Amino acid sequence: MSNDNAPPTHSERRRTVLKAGAGIAVTAAFAGSGIEARAAADAVAPTAATTTPAPGWTNWSGIARCTPKAIETPGDEAELAAALRKASAGGARCVGAGHSFTALVPTDATLISLDRMSGIVASDAQAQTVTLHAGTRLALLSRALDAQHLGLRNLPDIDAQSLAGAIATATHGTGKDLPALHADVVGLRLMTPGGEVLECSTDRNPELLAAARVSLGSLGVITQATVRVVPAFNLHRRVFLKPLQAMLDGAPALAEKHRNFEFYYLPFTGYAAGITNDLYTGTDTVQSPSADEDMLRDLKRLRDWLGWFPSLRRWVAGKLIDGEQTEEAKNRSWKLLSTQRPTKFNETECHVPRADGIACVREVIAALERRNDVFFPLEFRFVKADDAWLSPFHQRDSCSIAVHAAQGEPYDYLLSEIGPIYRKYQGRPHWGKLHDLKAPQLAALYPRWNDFLALRARLDPEGRMLNPYLRQLFGVTA
Ligand SMILES: Cc1cc2nc3c(=O)[nH]c(=O)nc-3n(C[C@H](O)[C@H](O)[C@H](O)COP(=O)(O)OP(=O)(O)OC[C@H]3O[C@@H](n4cnc5c(N)ncnc54)[C@H](O)[C@@H]3O)c2cc1C
Repeated sequence: MSNDNAPPTHSERRRTVLKAGAGIAVTAAFAGSGIEARAAADAVAPTAATTTPAPGWTNWSGIARCTPKAIETPGDEAELAAALRKASAGGARCVGAGHSFTALVPTDATLISLDRMSGIVASDAQAQTVTLHAGTRLALLSRALDAQHLGLRNLPDIDAQSLAGAIATATHGTGKDLPALHADVVGLRLMTPGGEVLECSTDRNPELLAAARVSLGSLGVITQATVRVVPAFNLHRRVFLKPLQAMLDGAPALAEKHRNFEFYYLPFTGYAAGITNDLYTGTDTVQSPSADEDMLRDLKRLRDWLGWFPSLRRWVAGKLIDGEQTEEAKNRSWKLLSTQRPTKFNETECHVPRADGIACVREVIAALERRNDVFFPLEFRFVKADDAWLSPFHQRDSCSIAVHAAQGEPYDYLLSEIGPIYRKYQGRPHWGKLHDLKAPQLAALYPRWNDFLALRARLDPEGRMLNPYLRQLFGVTA
């Protein structure tokens, strides 16, 4: 029952704000706050080694599934070696937090989770590195580093991932001078399917490091990673709206000017929301509550009510959005760079040469606006080149363009309509996000593709670490 004279409830207050500042609220869905409640769930790990008669497994969005014969959760390398021996020729796949959209993880054989192999192994203050168990979730990692007054240079826009899972797929954040996470990995311990532990670093076996940094779980099980860290730092975040054209024109300069810059295009509104982060030396913190979920719901409602009338939809959106609104936050880097994404989706993302980023995103936006069913914002980021053999940023400064479709809604067009645009610009797909490229196309995009395949065949001649998806991706028929 409602009472007109009563003060607005919390949710009514939030809705009022959203109507006044729609675009800003949407960006919070992707850039924001509310981090404190998150890590506890991520932190939960089994306390004893288990071989579970497996229930079905699904990824975060529910589109990748399997019913493995066994799920192994080793607590150390000896237990992992035993699990691999037991899996034997049947094969095994590793799972981190299950946040990849592609079918990298599914197996009907043995699924191995390193959730019990989590936390800091050692810190080296002089080298400014920290060695970590590979199952450590990024959220826990940031907190553990902060406790030592340290931090990672950059983070993806969520931090639920495991360290090994994140580096295996070249997970990245944004920043024209900031590479993906794996570029800061300076050493790895890798257990081959035969149970042998190989160590590699920038000094020792650097070729193996270059291959294993981004290896899709196909070379063996990564048990530890040594990662470059920096002194803990604070950031000042600003969120602002611009008409799309102005954002596209200004994006390269904004990327030059700010430590981190990205923008979200808000479909069928004519607006884009920019987010900048810059180093902040003050100690005060400012963090507004997240209105993200309410706003995403509003964008969906606009689509549901007015999807068939795009001009009217744009007109109404224009009336709802206050283009002058801005939002600011000041906090520890990891509290601003990563956020939560309660509303689930499926996603494709491609990395194109930096110089082609704006031209490519223009075409992607045009394609999206030919579909009245689209409402999820598109994300545009900048990533610096690195040298890992299968890094999508291999020797190429890049722009990343990500398109999302709400969970439960059609997502085939991400491949059939957006995929060809990415291909036109020599886009390299995010390994964890939807794409349909196969070995011949990938070989043309990756200069070290054949070197990687040769190394993989040497380390795992029987293909024990491959599943059907990877066999197809790598073109392995034997
Ligand atoms: C909501 C959401 C937001 C996202 N945001 C971003 C983003 O901002 N930037 C970005 O780049 N990506 C992003 N992603 C994609 C995500 O970061 C990657 O898909 C990442 O790989 C997921 O990590 P995970 O721990 O869930 O790994 P999983 O998906 O479980 O596994 C990924 C790969 O890692 C392998 N693997 C896992 N553990 C090991 C191990 N110990 N040894 C060897 N191989 C292993 C698996 O076999 C698999 O091949 C996002 C995904 C979601 C769902």
